[in-house]
Amino acid sequence: MTRGDYYDADGDGVEVTRESCPRCGDTFLAEHGDRKHCGGCGYTDRE
Ligand SMILES: [Zn+2]
Repeated sequence: MTRGDYYDADGDGVEVTRESCPRCGDTFLAEHGDRKHCGGCGYTDRE
């Protein structure tokens, strides 16, 4: 699988949501496929 098959056009395959981290409160979660991750504290929300 090449990089272009999997990743989005922006290159990193990560989409920043407008959902703030329930732990930090002031950091937006980044969406990685089926889970959301906070870059601040490491919180991960799996749906
Ligand atoms: Zn956080």
